Amino acid sequence: MNGMEQYDIIVIGAGPAGLFCAIHTSGPGCRVLVLEKMDEPGKKLLLSGTGQCNITHAGEMQDFLSHYGDHGKWVKPVLFSYTNKALLTFFEDRGLPMQAEDNGKVFPKTRQAADVLAVLYAECKTRGITLQCGEPVTGITRHDGGFRIVTPRATYRSTVVVITTGGASYPKTGSTGDGVRFAQMLGQPVTETAPALTPVLIRNFPFAALAGISFENIPFTLWRAGKKVGEYRGDVLFTHLGVSGPGILDASRHIRPDDVIKLSFAGNVKREEFTADLSRRVQENRTWNVSTILAGYPIPERLNRKLLKLSDIPDELRCNHFSAEQRTRLVTNCTEFPLTVTAPGGYAVAMVTRGGVALDGVNMKTMESKIIPGLFFAGEVLDIDGDTGGYNLQAAFSTGYVAAESIRKRLAEKSRKPGE
Ligand SMILES: Cc1cc2nc3c(=O)[nH]c(=O)nc-3n(C[C@H](O)[C@H](O)[C@H](O)COP(=O)(O)OP(=O)(O)OC[C@H]3O[C@@H](n4cnc5c(N)ncnc54)[C@H](O)[C@@H]3O)c2cc1C
Repeated sequence: MNGMEQYDIIVIGAGPAGLFCAIHTSGPGCRVLVLEKMDEPGKKLLLSGTGQCNITHAGEMQDFLSHYGDHGKWVKPVLFSYTNKALLTFFEDRGLPMQAEDNGKVFPKTRQAADVLAVLYAECKTRGITLQCGEPVTGITRHDGGFRIVTPRATYRSTVVVITTGGASYPKTGSTGDGVRFAQMLGQPVTETAPALTPVLIRNFPFAALAGISFENIPFTLWRAGKKVGEYRGDVLFTHLGVSGPGILDASRHIRPDDVIKLSFAGNVKREEFTADLSRRVQENRTWNVSTILAGYPIPERLNRKLLKLSDIPDELRCNHFSAEQRTRLVTNCTEFPLTVTAPGGYAVAMVTRGGVALDGVNMKTMESKIIPGLFFAGEVLDIDGDTGGYNLQAAFSTGYVAAESIRKRLAEKSRKPGE
């Protein structure tokens, strides 16, 4: 053993993917070690869902597939192998009931992410898994048909390695992109990484004073170099520096610096429909102020005043003096308000990382590298990023489970073939 501690399986990173994988690989005679950089496991899990943990989404797995950008087809075998129902059963069987909200988001009934972590931690203990915290992995090399794992404290050997180090967002939780670097060093293909599920910073944001106002399920479009590149709808929130809210967070994986986001405050109406309706109201109420007409639309009052100002329309302007140019400006501002993106927020505020270990380099039925036998990946280190609503944790748990299942089978086969 050359003085190295030997394990069957070493899991690097004790987030949801790593803990779940360790739990499901463990079994009699199988030595599992989990190495965690931070002084405690699951720091990001504790923050999830503002500490309440939106663990998954209700409904059919088929409906999950459109929530991973254009990677749904890759994630499909994993999600169908370990579904939302299986995940809920796992926790409910261990005394943590779950509850779906009307919008489909599923949380523990206690609304405590700490309770989710406690179940995982207790299960690791029951199964005799060695969890060593405060021990960052600094290097992985291939060694004698297995792997050599280096930390500041020791060097370990294992037959199988699972990289579950997460993405690079919220680095204070321990996820700092190490897994992608390890993968690259081992010769595993990776894709470019960037922050996702992030608020978006807007250049000269005109609504900073209205920070906190939110809009339910409004349509918005994304433009790049004058061309429309996306159509979305969702809840949008004004911040001091730009826009956020679930609709923006979900679209953020597609948003780049200098893109233009056009928001429709007028709701689900096309520009032409809004123009026609506004013109009719103006015609029918010639002596009214334009501001009174605008107040008839479901746009928050403070925003109405701001939109009039930005359209160069005085508060007291009467409809009979409302010019065609002013009307065009107001319609644009109500239905296609253009906001130029400075940049999507950075890793410090992004909930997930887009990009990572390339999915075409991994067998998505086993989570094993197609290039390096015995090397597995699970969780956000992979090029998988889901929408808000529980899709990321479900992906972390499902990939962790699938990796575990195939590792168990692999090790069982090996033990049946003595001499290997
Ligand atoms: C604020 C916030 C709220 C969120 N809310 C939700 C939500 O409600 N629902 C949802 O589905 N998703 C949510 N997410 C996303 C979700 O938490 C992540 O996608 C998920 O935690 C990924 O799990 P993981 O196990 O792959 O990685 P992580 O949870 O990031 O865990 C990786 C672990 O690996 C460790 N590690 C890293 N490098 C090393 C190394 N070199 N050596 C040893 N250990 C290492 C880290 O310290 C960490 O503990 C949220 C994210 C954030 C930031």
